[in-house]
Amino acid sequence: MLKRILAAALLLVALFACRCLAEKQILEAHFLDVGQGDAAIIQCGGQTLMIDGGDKDHSKFVYEYLKDLGITRIDYMISTHPHDDHVYGLATALQACDVGTVYSPVTGFDGKGFESFQNKLQEKGAEITVPHRGDTLSLGGAVVTFLSEPQNWWSLNDMSIVVKVEFGECAFLFTGDAGLNAEQDLLSSGMDLRANVLKVGHHGGLDATSKAFVEAVNPQYAIISVGENNKFGHPAEDTLRQLQRSMVNVFRTDIHGTILCFSDGKNLGFVMTQFKPTAAPATPLPTPDGTDTPAPADTPAAAGNPAPGAEKEVMYIGNRNSHVFHDMSCPSIQDMKTKNKVELYSREEAIDLGFKPCGRCRP
Ligand SMILES: [Zn+2]
Ligand SMILES: [Zn+2]
Repeated sequence: MLKRILAAALLLVALFACRCLAEKQILEAHFLDVGQGDAAIIQCGGQTLMIDGGDKDHSKFVYEYLKDLGITRIDYMISTHPHDDHVYGLATALQACDVGTVYSPVTGFDGKGFESFQNKLQEKGAEITVPHRGDTLSLGGAVVTFLSEPQNWWSLNDMSIVVKVEFGECAFLFTGDAGLNAEQDLLSSGMDLRANVLKVGHHGGLDATSKAFVEAVNPQYAIISVGENNKFGHPAEDTLRQLQRSMVNVFRTDIHGTILCFSDGKNLGFVMTQFKPTAAPATPLPTPDGTDTPAPADTPAAAGNPAPGAEKEVMYIGNRNSHVFHDMSCPSIQDMKTKNKVELYSREEAIDLGFKPCGRCRP
C-alpha cells in the first residue's frame, strides 16, 4: 500500500519538479493515520522533523512507515505533550531511527508512554530540550518557529508545543492538543499565527478551535487527526461548522487515511491515501540490538480503544462549568445542571479532557 502512496507522491513531486527549477526543494508533510492520536513527519532538504508519534496500538505502523520512507535519522523530534496518544509512537520511532534534538514541554511525566519515550532517549544518549516562544530551527529550506511558551497550565493539553513550519510562501501550524486557553494565549502573544494548513487542536474536540483562533490562522486547509468512531465524539460538530463557516477545506485521517501534503514553497498539493493501518501490532517490534521485544501486554480494549461494536459505558460525569468529574454515585451529580453534564467513559478520558477528580467522591 505504501508503494502506491509513494507512487502518487512521486507523481506529485514530478509535477512540481516540472513547474519549478530542478534545484528547488520540496517539503513533504505526512499526517499519519494513527487512529485516535497524532503523528506527523515533515521532510525538507533531506532533513526530518517528527511531531508526535501516535498511541501504542499504532506504533508498529509508525515504525514501518519510517522504515518504508528510508528515514534513518530524525533530525528534530517534538513531543507536543506527554499524553499517550501522542508520545507512545515516538518511543517506537526512536527504535527505528537515530535522533538529533528532542523537544518536549516537560522533562518528566508520570505516564507509560512518556516513560518509555524517556527510556529510549536515555538509550540514545539524547536529552530533552524545553523550547521557548520565538525559538527557531532550520529544516532544509524551511524554518520552524516555536509559538508556545512553557507554562503551568491546568490542562496538560494546553501545555502542547505549538510550532509553525514555514517554507517559502507556505506555512503549516501544528497545535498538538492545545485548547481554548492556549489558543487565547497564542492570540495575545503577538506571534504571527497565519498558516495555509492548520493541524487542528485536540483532534477537533469542542475545547479547541475557537472562532478567533481560526480567523487569526486563516487557513485554507485543516487536518484533523482522529480515530474512526472514537469514544470521545471527536471531531465535534461545532468545530466542523466553525471550519466550514471560515471556508476551510477539511481533511480527516479517519476518512482519508494517511494524508500527504507537498509544497514547493508556493503551491500545495494533497494526496489522500485512504490507507488504514491495522490497529494492534501483529508481531513484536525488533529492538535496536535485534532481539524481539515482548508482545504488548495491553489489549486494544485495555488501552482505551473499545473493540468495534463494543457498548460504551458511562463511567463518570464531568461538570462543563467547574471542570470537575465525579463517580456515577456522587451526590454532587444531582445538584448539577443538565446542560453542564458531560458523560465520560474513562478516567483517562476525563483527565485528557481537562477534568479534575472530585474531592468528595475521589473518582
Ligand atoms: Zn490527543
Ligand atoms: Zn492530550
